[in-house]
This record gives sequence, C-alpha cells and structure tokens, in this order.
Amino acid sequence: MVFSAAVSSSTISSRLLYSSAPLAVQSRHATEKKISLSPPTSQCRAFSLLPSVSRMGFVSQRAQKESSNLRIFASVTDISVEKSVEEVHLPKGDMWSVHKFGGTCVGSSERIKNVAEVIVSDATERKLVIVSAMSKVTDMMYDLIHKAESRDDSYVSALDAVFEKHKSTAHDVLDGDELAGFLSLLHHDINNLKAMLRAIYIAGHATESFSDFVAGHGELWSAQILAAVVRKNGVDCTWMDTREVIIVNLTGSNQVDPDFLESERRLEKWFSQKPSKTIIATGFIASTPDNIPTTLKRDGSDFSAAIMGSLVKAGQVTIWTDVDGVYSADPRKVSEAVILKKLSYQEAWEMSYFGANVLHPRTIIPVMRYDIPIVIRNIFNLSAPGTMICRSSVSEDGDCQKVDSPVKGFATIDNLALINVEGTGMAGVPGTANAIFGAVKDVGANVIMISQASSEHSVCFAVPEKEVKAVAEALQSRFREALNAGRLSQVAVVPNCSILATVGQKMASTPGVSATLFNALAKANINVRAIAQGCSEYNITVVVKREDCIRALRAVHSRFYLSRTTIAMGIIGPGLIGATLLDQLRDQTAILKEEFNIDLRVMGITGSKTMLLSDVEIDLLRWRELLKDKGEVADLEKFTRHVHGNHFIPNTVLVDCTADSDIAICYHDWLQKGIHVITPNKKANSGPLDQYLKLRALQRKSYTHYFYEATVGAGLPIISTLRGLLETGDKILRIEGIFSGTLSYLFNNYAGTRRFSEVVSEAKAAGYTEPDPRDDLSGTDVARKVIILARESGLKLELADLPVRSLVPEPLQACASAGEFMEKLPQFDQEFAKERQEAEDAGEVLRYVGVVDAINRKGTVELRRYKKDHPFAQLSGSDNIIAFTTTRYKEQPLIVRGPGAGAQVTAGGIFSDILRLASYLGAPS
Ligand code: ADP
Ligand code: ASP
Ligand code: MG
Repeated sequence: MVFSAAVSSSTISSRLLYSSAPLAVQSRHATEKKISLSPPTSQCRAFSLLPSVSRMGFVSQRAQKESSNLRIFASVTDISVEKSVEEVHLPKGDMWSVHKFGGTCVGSSERIKNVAEVIVSDATERKLVIVSAMSKVTDMMYDLIHKAESRDDSYVSALDAVFEKHKSTAHDVLDGDELAGFLSLLHHDINNLKAMLRAIYIAGHATESFSDFVAGHGELWSAQILAAVVRKNGVDCTWMDTREVIIVNLTGSNQVDPDFLESERRLEKWFSQKPSKTIIATGFIASTPDNIPTTLKRDGSDFSAAIMGSLVKAGQVTIWTDVDGVYSADPRKVSEAVILKKLSYQEAWEMSYFGANVLHPRTIIPVMRYDIPIVIRNIFNLSAPGTMICRSSVSEDGDCQKVDSPVKGFATIDNLALINVEGTGMAGVPGTANAIFGAVKDVGANVIMISQASSEHSVCFAVPEKEVKAVAEALQSRFREALNAGRLSQVAVVPNCSILATVGQKMASTPGVSATLFNALAKANINVRAIAQGCSEYNITVVVKREDCIRALRAVHSRFYLSRTTIAMGIIGPGLIGATLLDQLRDQTAILKEEFNIDLRVMGITGSKTMLLSDVEIDLLRWRELLKDKGEVADLEKFTRHVHGNHFIPNTVLVDCTADSDIAICYHDWLQKGIHVITPNKKANSGPLDQYLKLRALQRKSYTHYFYEATVGAGLPIISTLRGLLETGDKILRIEGIFSGTLSYLFNNYAGTRRFSEVVSEAKAAGYTEPDPRDDLSGTDVARKVIILARESGLKLELADLPVRSLVPEPLQACASAGEFMEKLPQFDQEFAKERQEAEDAGEVLRYVGVVDAINRKGTVELRRYKKDHPFAQLSGSDNIIAFTTTRYKEQPLIVRGPGAGAQVTAGGIFSDILRLASYLGAPS
C-alpha cells in the first residue's frame, strides 16, 4: 500500500491514519510493534527496515525503493539495531552539552555549514544538538495546511517551493550518497505530504494532530541535512527523530506537558541502540503517549532543547539565535536596547512569558530543576559572549548593565483585549472570581494578566484579542441573572490593548521603581488602562492602548537605561538663529552627555523648502552639507511625525527658530501630542488672545512643556525672572524696559550734534537693524514683547489694544523700499532733533521703551524721557534693560540688563530653554 492510498476523505483523522495502519512486515522486535504506532514517514523506515543502510547515513535509493514496495507502516520505536537495552547506558551530567540552533541559524546552505563548524569545534565530550526547521519553513508548512483547508489549489505550488528550498540546500551542502539519500527521502516525504494535503483539501479540514504532523517536517529535514553536513566535517554523528523520545500530554489549550519519566525511558532506549557522542535531534516535534506525532507548539524548539538538556542533565544548554543575547527590550523595537549579561531563571521566564520571543517561556522550568545554565548566543557573532541565564543574577559582578538598575528588561504583548467585569454586587461575594475564570476556562481562553482592586468592585483581565468575543459572550451568559438584577453593572470589552511588562528580580527590594515607571509613562503622555504586580514583585505589568505601546516601551526603557533625559529634537528654521543654535549644540552635546547625563539628539532639521530627516542623531559637524545633499522637500507634518514617532526616544521637542505665524499655529497640536515646544518666535504668545489662552491652559494641565524665554530679551532671563516673582507670590506693579537692541543702539548713540538719520544708517551698516529699518522703528516688535510680558503677568491684552509710538514718519510709511526710506529719512531729522533738544534742556535723554502697567491693566510703547542718572540713561551699545517694580521690589526695581539681541545670545537663550526642559524631565541639577 502506498501512502496515498491510505488517505481518503473519510480517514482524515491522523489517529486513524497512524494507529490503524497495518504492519505488513515482521520486525525483529515484534513486541514493540504491537504497542507502537506511528505515522508513515520514510524516516521511520530508515531505522526499522533497512539493515543494509549504514547506521549514520540516509536510506539508500535501492532500500528506499524496496521499502515503498513493501507497503509498510513502521513504528517510531521499531528500531532495528543489534544492541540490547542493558548493553549501553545513557551517561548523564556535565559531559553533555546541549545546543539549540534556531531557524535563522540554519536558514541557508552557508549558515548550515557554519552551524556544523560550531558543533564540530565544541570540545565537550558529548553533544546533543537540537535544530529548528530552516527559517520560514514552519510558516510555509502551516500555510500549506491553511491553503488546503480553504481549498486553495495553490497549496500544490507552495509545496513545490518547500521541496525546491530543501532540494537546493541539499545540493549546496551535500554530495555523494548523503545527497542521494536525502533527496530520495525528501521526494518520498513530499509525495506523502501531497497526498495528505489533497485529503485535507477534500475534507476542508485538518485536525490539530494532522497539522502538527505536516508542520513537523521542517525539523525532520533540517536535522537530517545538518547531521549529514556534520558527518561531512569528519564527526561521527546520528540524527534523532524526537518523536521517538519526547513524550508529551496534550492539555487542550494549545500547550503540551512533557512526561519526563517516559521521555527519559525512551531516550535511554534510543541511546542504547544508537550510542552516539554527537546527536543531531529535531526541535519542535514530539509524540503523545499513544505515539501520535505532535509538536511543542510554535517556537517550541527552545523547549525541546530544555527537555533534552534536563534528560541528560547537561552541563549547559546553549540557544543559538540571530541576536547577541537577551536584550533589555526587543531590539527591533528599541534600538538602544542593551545586552543583559546575566538573568535569573525567574527574570528570563517573566521576559519570555511577556513577549520576549528570544526564548520560549517554557524553556526555563526543565533546566531550572537541575540548575543547568542556559546561554543565549549569536551564531552570526561568535565573539559575543551572550546572555547567561542561571540561578540568580542579583549582585553578580561584571554585568554590563547599570548595576544599580533594579529593572532588567521590558517586554510587550500586542493584540490583547481587556475585559472588565464590574458591579457593586461583587464585593464580599465568595466565588465571583471562580465563576468569572471558570467561564473563561470553558471557552479555552488564555488569561494573560488579572487585576482586581481591593474594593472588589471590579475584576479586569487581559485575553488575546482573538478570544475576547467568545469570552465576553460566555461571561454575559454566565452572569445574565446578576446583570439583569443589577448586581453586576457590566461586562465591558476594551479592544486594541497591549501589555508592557517590566521585569527585574531586584525590583522586589527596591522602593520607587513603579513610581519611576509610571512617571516615565506620564511624561510620555501615555494613559495606563490597567496595572498588575504579582507579590513576587519581579514584574510590573501595565496595559496600554496598542498604538501607544512602542512609545511606552521606549519611554520606560529610556527612563531606566538611557540617560534620564534623552530628547529627540527637531529644529525648524536653520536661518541665522537656528544655524547658530545647531552650532552651539554641536559644540556642547558631548559634554552635556558625559558630564550632566543629558542626551540631546537632533533627528530632523527643516527649512521652508528642504528638510533633513534621520533615524539616528544627525551629525552636527556636517548638518549643512547633509541638509544640502540629503534634504528632501519640506513637509512640516511629515517632519513632526518623524521627529516624534520614528525612533526610540520618548521625549520630543520641536524648536521653532522662525518668526512665522503659520508655524506658531501648530504649537497647540504639538503640545497635545506630547511634543514639547521651545521657541524665540513671538507670534504665538503675542497673537490672538484666545489662542494664547488655549495654549497656556493646555501647557498647565499636561506634562508637556512650552518654553519661550528668547521671545523677550534674547538670552536674558526675563520670562524666568517674571515667573519666579509670580510663582513665589510677588505682585507685579509695572514692567518697563528697553526691549529692542536696535532702538537701544539708536538712542544710546543719538547724542550731541548727530543727526537721527545718520545714526540709523550707521546701525544699518553695522547689521543692527532689520534689512528694512522700518521693521524696527515701527515699534511692532517691542509691542509684541510688551504683550508677551503683560499676558505673562495675567493681563488679557490684545496687540491692537496697545498704543504704539511709531518712529517711522507718517509720509515714509508708504515708501516702496528700504532704500527709498533711508533716502528720505533725513527730511525728518529736524523733528527728531527738536524732541531730543527739549529732553536735553530738562537734563533728560530719550529712550524707546515698552511699559506694562499692571495696576491700570494696560500697556504702551513710547519714546520716554529719563533723567541722566536713571539706569535707562546709562546704557551702551545695543543692551536691553528691564525693570520690574513689584510689591517686594517697590523702592528699587529689580533690573535685568545685558545684550538683548544677536544670533549668539538668542540661540543661547533657546539652548538654556532646552536645558531647562531636560531638567524638568529629570536631569540631575
Ligand atoms: P530563533 O529562530 O533563533 O528561535 P526567534 O525569532 O524565535 O529566533 O527569536 C530571536 C528574536 O527574538 C530576535 O531576532 C529578536 O528580534 C527577538 N527578540 C524579542 N525580544 C527580545 C529580547 N528582549 N532580546 C533579544 N531578542 C529579542
Ligand atoms: N520551527 C518551529 C516554529 O517555527 C519551532 C521553532 O523554530 O522553535 O515554530
Ligand atoms: Mg525561537
């Protein structure tokens, strides 16, 4: 009987297929045949029927042909080797090292050769190697089943792809008899699979064990190829079909429980017949006690290695994968994650249970029983020492992570839903939890976390999203009476959730970890929906919205692992001030990082036409050429999204160095998204009052910061001084000041016999004025500063409310150009001279000032006269001077004086706002 004949739509159950198949040939171990029934794989036949084949090698083609003519189903335990169980005992202990190679390790011919070299170079006396299917093959196998189940004909070509992949790999790595043997076996298996898939196609359904049988072929092939390559490297080795050894009980919830005693017995028997020093075994696959093939479920090869490691009491289990070890967070999500050199079993378990798929969570228990260390290593980087998982990691020396960090790592699980069962009738009623979770169990759903407040008013728990509908329905029906009677108010489902778990054994003895954790989440503007901490305190689990999950992960990771204050920066407007700021940052960031633990990273720079976006910190030594060479068309929305979202840094600040009101309009939206804003741009704070009030209200109630020190007096501490006064309870009576560097210069130099136009020309030539001096002389800029200070002091003023003395003579306001204005300005020198003379006659000087009159709740911008001994009369150059008269500073005003214009000092003012932000975010003072 060829296999395909055995498959019919009516016998699709794998149990039927495997267990009722007749044994047509006499074996030397007839007693075993009666008890052991197995799927009809050619691998099994290789052992059972063909004494002519070398013990290590593949079935010869001749023998294969014979076997298929014999219409045989052989047993997985039907092993025809002439050694009795008593003869060779399985040695146990440190002489064994167990290695497990993940799919990526054997993903290509080249990689299989590398793996063989690693095996050969391990000097341990005995080696047991577990191997996964070649990368993606298990997915391909499950896909075949799904295609066949849904009657999609393309399963045929998909199976061809599986065949081709293994055929071409075998051609690359094998030759001679080994190649021929493998190809013949592969052919045979593929033919069988074709028949099985056809049967599934007809039935439109495959049982779990049937699927498991199909899916396990990837491991059967990879193990045999690898064994042959190891032999080719001169090392005697045998491959092991772990369905003959690992026996598991099915639990009904997509999990299996190993039967260690039976597995040990089977291993001893297997070994007595094949006492090899190097064994290449299949990962993933196993059998039930009735010898029905099954699997350890997805990613189960790690578990296989742990089971085998515990059976031989190995000295060590090494899990080879494609990363340098266990990282503090999934390195695909947090590129700043660091390798953990050591983890306790408990920590590794918590990390893997909560989603760190570098290790299957069930890997820990079997090895922990015998204190066998697990080492995670990178096959692609042999020089990396990897992560050691062993009894305890607490107070171990030499850890590369910060020894004082109580948190080891973070992991996340997506695609969850929360269920909240709520009602006053739950409190104090014994059995409520039992009823809830009994109902959940009945639908076979897996509860990932549970949280119940001590008021017992509600119980909330997380289940996989795909199970939530069934769970909710089960609860609704279980509690129908209680819901109708009002004892329960609701069974609510919160979809689209993710879990973020924070893990570390030292958390148990360290106060404040959760405070830090929640603080980091709050600062990243992330809403926590549910919390659970087991009393072991090794894990704090929070549930967040799925779309917030990566940001939450990055925020907490950076809080514990990066500098407290890593800030992603986007610089808008690399003009004179922006460029100066970038250069100041260039010169200072390394020092800030080293000495103050402040980590500033410019991730984007945008002008009005081009922008530069980078996934890593922009090299500020080269920002100009990068912007020129790699710049793309400016798009503020894309820019914002990039700086805020496309990397792992949780804090974002946008620094607006423009004077553009279109950009100022965006601040509210940015703050709402959790983006901090820093700017010297006066437009937002001096624009429409309602918009300003909205902005400030948002700023006050969120953890997002908006700083604008450089809007008034450039780098001088004006806003911060005013804030300091107000926040400490002082009352502002009056603020009066020379707020314009240009106008300060003009009037400081407009003395003696000099003409006004002459001083303006001089200032223009020296670059102290705007290209069109009317922009300074009109007083609008000073008026905006007065509005900013007035509003900061609590006055609700609009720009239009402010009387402003313009120094642009009425007839010159219409001049078409700055040139025409400058040409005509001397015509008005007389008028200015007259005003100056009157002041001088009274022993006074003219000064262009802004005034906030808090008592009368108004402001003005005017040309005022001051006595020659007044501080305002003593100014030189382009200095600003601001006098605060308050209840505390009534007799003598508090005066701030210094250069209040120019790119260096303005950029310096912005820079100090950035550092202020860092300190608000927790930088050390
Ligand atoms: P294998 O095929 O070798 O079993 P897996 O894909 O199952 O490999 O597991 C390795 C992957 O786990 C890594 O490539 C990495 O992307 C991911 N991973 C998730 N979390 C972590 C973590 N905390 N540390 C290391 N790797 C992690
Ligand atoms: N090949 C199996 C899977 O992909 C088992 C494993 O690789 O761990 O699930
Ligand atoms: Mg894995």
